[in-house]
Amino acid sequence: MSDSIVVSVVGAQQISPNLRRVTLSGPALAAWESTGKADEFLHVHIPGEDPAPGWEDDHDVARHYTVRRWDPSVPSIDIDVVTHGHGRGATWARSAQPGDVVALSELHGYYSPPAGTTRRLLVADATGLPAVARILEEASAEESFHVTVELISADDRIALPSPATVTVDWRVSGNGRGPSALLSLMEGMEVPDGGVYVWLACESAHSRKARAFVRATWPRHHAYYRIVGYWHVNAEEQLRKWNALSEAQQARYLEIWDESRPDEVNWLELEPYLQEIGL
Ligand SMILES: Cc1cc2nc3c(=O)[nH]c(=O)nc-3n(C[C@H](O)[C@H](O)[C@H](O)COP(=O)(O)OP(=O)(O)OC[C@H]3O[C@@H](n4cnc5c(N)ncnc54)[C@H](O)[C@@H]3O)c2cc1C
Repeated sequence: MSDSIVVSVVGAQQISPNLRRVTLSGPALAAWESTGKADEFLHVHIPGEDPAPGWEDDHDVARHYTVRRWDPSVPSIDIDVVTHGHGRGATWARSAQPGDVVALSELHGYYSPPAGTTRRLLVADATGLPAVARILEEASAEESFHVTVELISADDRIALPSPATVTVDWRVSGNGRGPSALLSLMEGMEVPDGGVYVWLACESAHSRKARAFVRATWPRHHAYYRIVGYWHVNAEEQLRKWNALSEAQQARYLEIWDESRPDEVNWLELEPYLQEIGL
C-alpha cells in the first residue's frame, strides 16, 4: 500500500468500438516520475464491494494497464482499456464514472531500444495498441518503425501520429475471438537485421511462441528485443495451474526471475523450466 496512490475517474470515452479511454486524476500524480519507457504501465486496483481502494498487487483486484498519456500539468493520465469481455478490468472501464476511485501502483516499463539505434519493429494485439500509440507519439524524427497490430474489428483502427517514419499493417484476427495471426505475419516478414529493435506485446502463450521464433529465426542480442505477455487466453486455468505447483517449484520460478538480469536473459532460463513443469 505504501507506494500506491489514490486517484479518481474524471472522464471516460469510447475511442473505438472495443477501446475505452478512462482519464484519472489526483494531486499525487504531480509527484510521479516517468520511467522514461514509452510502454510504461501500472497496476490499477479496482475496488469491488469494499469501496476503499487499499492496495493489493493481486489479480483478484488489480489489472495492468499502459499509461497512454500523462499530463503532469493537470495532473492526469489516460488509460485505454480493451473492453473484451466481463473481467473486472473491462467491466470497470465500461461503467467508469467521474468520482469513482481506484489506486495505482508505481510505474514500470519494458520498451528500451539501445542508444544510438533508430530502426524498430513493433508487433501487438489490441492490448498493446495503447503502448504502440505512445511509443510512436514519443519517437524522434530519426527513427523508423514497422508496426503490425492485430485488432478485434477494422473499426478499432486509430490514428497513430508520430514524427518518425512509420508503416502500419492492421489485421483483424486473434484477441481471444479466434486464432492469432501475429506469428504467421512475423513468419512472412523479411528478416530484420540485428540492428533492428523488436518489441512485441500480446497474449502470453503467443508471446512465448513469438519469442521462440525470434530466437530461432531473427537471432539478435538480448538488448535488441523485448517480448511481453499481456494477458492469458484462459487466465483462470493459468492461475489454477500455478496454484497446483509445489512450493519448491514456485520458489524455483521466482529464483530464476532475477531482477538484476535483463528480462530476456531471465526468459532464456525460464522458458525451459515452464515447459518442464507444464506451464
Ligand atoms: C504490461 C502490460 C500492459 C497492459 N496494457 C494494457 C492496456 O493498455 N490496455 C488493455 O486493455 N490491456 C492491457 N494489458 C492487458 C490487461 O492487463 C489484461 O487483458 C487483463 O487481463 C484484463 O483484465 P480483465 O479484468 O478485463 O480480464 P480478466 O479478469 O483478467 O480475464 C477474464 C477473461 O477474459 C480473458 N481476457 C483477458 N484479457 C483479454 C483480452 N485483452 N482479450 C480477450 N480476452 C481477454 C481472460 O483470459 C479471462 O478468461 C496490459 C498487460 C500488461 C502485462
